Amino acid sequence: MSEVRNVVIVGSGPAGYTAAIYAARAQLDPIIYEGSVTAGGALMNTTEVENFPGFTDGVMGPDLMDSMRKQAKRFGAELITDDIVEMDLSGDIKVLKDGSGNTVKAKTVILATGSAYREIGLVNEKRLSGHGVSWCATCDGFFFRGQTIAVVGGGDSAVEEATFLTRFADKVVLIHRRDSLRASKIMAERAKANPKIEFLWNTEVIDVLGADKVEGLKLRNTVDGTESEQAFTGLFVAIGHIPRSELIAGQITLDNEGYVICEGRSTRTNLKGVFACGDLVDHTYRQAITAAGSGCAAALDAEKFLAH
Ligand code: NAP
Repeated sequence: MSEVRNVVIVGSGPAGYTAAIYAARAQLDPIIYEGSVTAGGALMNTTEVENFPGFTDGVMGPDLMDSMRKQAKRFGAELITDDIVEMDLSGDIKVLKDGSGNTVKAKTVILATGSAYREIGLVNEKRLSGHGVSWCATCDGFFFRGQTIAVVGGGDSAVEEATFLTRFADKVVLIHRRDSLRASKIMAERAKANPKIEFLWNTEVIDVLGADKVEGLKLRNTVDGTESEQAFTGLFVAIGHIPRSELIAGQITLDNEGYVICEGRSTRTNLKGVFACGDLVDHTYRQAITAAGSGCAAALDAEKFLAH
C-alpha cells in the first residue's frame, strides 16, 4: 500500500474501538487491525458486564464489543481482522506489516493491544494447557460439567471465573496465596455466598499433576510452608494480565513491567505520532470504561497532532 493513512489503530478492545469511533467521526478515515484471533479483546471472554454505564440490566461482554465494532464501522472506520506483526514507528511515516504480508503506512499510530493472561510459570501448567488447564472459564467451563475444579487468584477475574464455573462444576475451589481477596466487595460476597465455592487461603499452586490431563495439584501453604496434594480435574488460572507490548519493545519506552509510558495525562508515547491506550498503559484501573476513555483520548491526541 503506497497510500499514507492518517491513523492506524492496532488492537480492538474497548480502547481500540473507541479510538476508531472518535477518529472516524473526525473524518480521519482510520483503519483498525482487530487481530486475527483476539478481535474484541478480553471482553470477548467474559460474561455479563454489570458496570459499563448505560446498560441498566448489564450487557454481555461480546455483545458490548459487537456494538462498539458496528458503531466504528457506521462512521466509516475500516476494520481488518488480521494481526500487525511488524512495526517501524521511528520515522514521520510509520510502516506496519500485517499477518498476510501487506504493508500499511500511517502518519499516526494508536496502540491498543491490551493485555494477555498471566501464567503461574509452572512447566506442567504449560504442558497441560488445553488438557485441564485453562485461562478462560467462558470458553472452557462447559467441559467440566459435574467435576471438581480449582481456580487460582484473588482478584475480580478469579471470583468471576469461579462463580461462572459453578454453572457446570459440582465444586469450585478458589485457591489464593493470601488470606483475603483483592476482588471488589460485591463480587466477593456473591462468591462467598455460593454453596458450590470453597476457599483455600494462604495457598499457592506449585505443580500441576497428571500425565495426559489434569488429575490434581501440588500445593504449598504460604504461612507454614507445608506441602500437600489435592485431586482436581481442572485448573483455571486467573492471576491477572501482562501488557502485550512485545512487538514494540525497543522502540517505545516501557516501564519495567512492560507497560507503555505516556507523557503526563496524555496518550503520547516517546515517539512523535504514536499514541497508546487501554490495558497497554494502565497499571491501575483496568476497566472496560477506563479503556474506552483512554481510547477516546488517544484519538483526540492523534487528531490534534495531525492538525498541527
Ligand atoms: P488483579 O486484580 O491484578 O488480581 C490478580 C490476583 O492474582 C491477585 O489476587 C494476586 O494476588 C494473584 N496473583 C498474581 N500473581 C500470582 C501468582 N504468580 N500466583 C498466584 N496468585 C497470583 O487481576 P484481575 O483479577 O485479572 O483483575 C484485573 C482488573 O480487571 C481489575 O482492575 C479488576 O477490577 C478488573 N476486572 C473487573 C471485573 C468486573 O468488574 N466484572 C472482572 C474481572 C476483572 P495478590 O492479591 O496477593 O496480589
